[in-house]
Amino acid sequence: MTTANSLLIRDLHTLVTMNDDREVIHGGFLYAEDGVIKLIGQRPPRNLRARRVIRGNALIAVPGLINTHHHLFQTLTRACTAAANAELFDWLRTLYPLWSRIDEEATHVAALVGMAELMLSGCTTTSDHHYLFPRGQSRLIDAQIAAARKIGIRFHATRGSMSVGESKGGLPPDSVVQDDDTILADSERVIRKYHDPQPGAMIRVALAPCSPFSVSPELMRRTAELAERHDVRLHTHLAETRDEERYCLEHFGKRPLDFLDSVGWLTDRSWLAHGIYFSASEVRRLGRAHVGIAHCPTSNMRLGSGFCPALALQRAGSPVGLGVDGSASNDSSHMLAEARNALLLNRLRHGAAAITVEQALRMATVEGAHCLGRSDIGTLEPGKRADIALFDLRNPSYSGAEDALSALLLCAPATVHTLVVEGRVVVEDGVLSTLSLDPILRRHRRIATRVTNNPRPLC
Ligand SMILES: [Zn+2]
Repeated sequence: MTTANSLLIRDLHTLVTMNDDREVIHGGFLYAEDGVIKLIGQRPPRNLRARRVIRGNALIAVPGLINTHHHLFQTLTRACTAAANAELFDWLRTLYPLWSRIDEEATHVAALVGMAELMLSGCTTTSDHHYLFPRGQSRLIDAQIAAARKIGIRFHATRGSMSVGESKGGLPPDSVVQDDDTILADSERVIRKYHDPQPGAMIRVALAPCSPFSVSPELMRRTAELAERHDVRLHTHLAETRDEERYCLEHFGKRPLDFLDSVGWLTDRSWLAHGIYFSASEVRRLGRAHVGIAHCPTSNMRLGSGFCPALALQRAGSPVGLGVDGSASNDSSHMLAEARNALLLNRLRHGAAAITVEQALRMATVEGAHCLGRSDIGTLEPGKRADIALFDLRNPSYSGAEDALSALLLCAPATVHTLVVEGRVVVEDGVLSTLSLDPILRRHRRIATRVTNNPRPLC
């Protein structure tokens, strides 16, 4: 007898568990049933049968990678010439008018493309920070969640928001901000409709006012209260640039972290994108409160924003996950590349011994899970969800490598061979099996051409 929904991956070249003992098994197996890992070890029991068997002789298995910060709609405005060499505030001022053209279809298709990219890079769970709601567009989170369900990725939607437009001293144009009551009512609607608190949840919802320079302290405070009432998580951008620090000092008379504290966000319910401009004492405060950090090395380098003290934050007690950030400031959604950049950037700053490949991959897996408030994903262990990324060691970029785990980040970032989400194979032989990508890419290019008004589309 075999269970209908069972999966056996056997004879794995390397199986990286990311468990507390940091166990790595060579020649081992993994068995999952109904989306949950049941057995891991050296040799499967002789009578073990599974509906689906994968031979892993040339594969390395790692926990499915977890992306803790993104803006999927920005896949429509990649490599935008006018913003190519700008720092954050000018970059935003250039792109807001283009983004004001997005609608439900654009958001849905952009999410599908970004999610597809993530999955092909080994990502099984992503969050997204969607904060831009042009007038009349009230169902954009719904469009993203529909995309996640279609493509088969585990998804943490965040109901983002902007409430302070240019006329009130904020950075975004008034056409893309909403009032506090509209934001809070829709936040509650999205939580009630979609948030699943159960272990193994495929959809969760968090609340995410965008940044100190686009929301009011009152909205931050009321959002924290709403999150507490529904027991959902809180997310925002913080301490990304010196410009933001100046804005906080001018408008609130406080540094970014003091502003965050003053509105009730310095708790383990929060995780923050970027976290660059923190003093040593602020790092200790964040660590004591176990505030999570989405470290976004590629975006920080791309925009020249600065360097996040990720290792100091970890030592202080903060979980530090990785985020690819939006596709207009990266401009890719490749989680393995993000982990590689985290490794390289932290080595550049602190020396080659400061961070190992395994530590960087822990950020991309188990620490990312902690940022999202999850203990059911991020490691390969019995009882955890069967979210697994398998990379093919026959890939030309790995040829000649001695150690499989090191090759994942020291060699060129590869495309995943097989991806399993909740026990279901969603990428096979490097190809998405849940949907046909070509027609979606054609639609995506068409919409991107409209949004950017591009006179010379790539194809
Ligand atoms: Zn961001």
